Amino acid sequence: MPEVALALREAAQRLSATSDTARLDAEVLMAHALGASRSDLLLRHMRDAVPDGFAALVERRARHEPVAYIIGHAEFYGLDFKVSPEVLIPRGDSETLVEGARKAFADVPPKRVIDLGTGSGALLVATLSLFPGAEGLGIDRSEGALAIARGNAAANGVDARFETRDWTQANWCEDLGRFDLVLANPPYVERDAQLDESVRGFEPAGALFAGEDGLDDYRILVPQLPELLAPGGLALVEIGHTQASAVSALGKDCGLESRVLKDLAERERVIAFSMLLH
Ligand code: GLN
Repeated sequence: MPEVALALREAAQRLSATSDTARLDAEVLMAHALGASRSDLLLRHMRDAVPDGFAALVERRARHEPVAYIIGHAEFYGLDFKVSPEVLIPRGDSETLVEGARKAFADVPPKRVIDLGTGSGALLVATLSLFPGAEGLGIDRSEGALAIARGNAAANGVDARFETRDWTQANWCEDLGRFDLVLANPPYVERDAQLDESVRGFEPAGALFAGEDGLDDYRILVPQLPELLAPGGLALVEIGHTQASAVSALGKDCGLESRVLKDLAERERVIAFSMLLH
């Protein structure tokens, strides 16, 4: 039996054609196969026998499957989230929304929060964990996603304040009441965009693509924000990094003021919409 240290080296080599993070991927998959944390793996298991099943996990990754789907969970804003191919894998870029909320509501925390297209629930669960007095509503077109979101709310201890609504039939956000904070990471990828095979081949198309120019969902969603925002409320909407002016313009047409927030890579990532004060 080869030992873990050698198998990791071989797996990193095998994955380097597919992944920019080949060594990390190999370690995460090995830790998963061993039922250990990654730090335990590195400290304690390097001389162990390679667990059954490791090779099959590496093969899945070599065929571009995202590590998060293979191991069934992903980290977001320091919290752990269950994920499946029914939900988009939470991205570090989307932490920009949670950070934006933390800063904007530092003095007066929000009471009612809604997450449009909640998916795994990552945005809403992370936000509720920041604001212990807030209640959240997560809506999604996918019932499978809502089941995962509820599980993630429970696993992170916010389920008493977390509701979901099936939004299969509805037109984004009609008739939901008003909210102090609106979160949304809608689909915004152009239909013909060049996407990594690990994204295009595995993540849910319904969470990614929004028509020819990637703006279809904003065209429906942004005009509904004035009905959805409570007085003094804020909507934080994720955008593709080239979409800031187009999405701000949609807001301007319906009386919304906008501010752009950048992600850690300094790309324009979020539009913060609020009602213009007259
Ligand atoms: N940021 C994602 C990507 O580039 C897209 C997320 C979305 O469409 N909401 O793959």
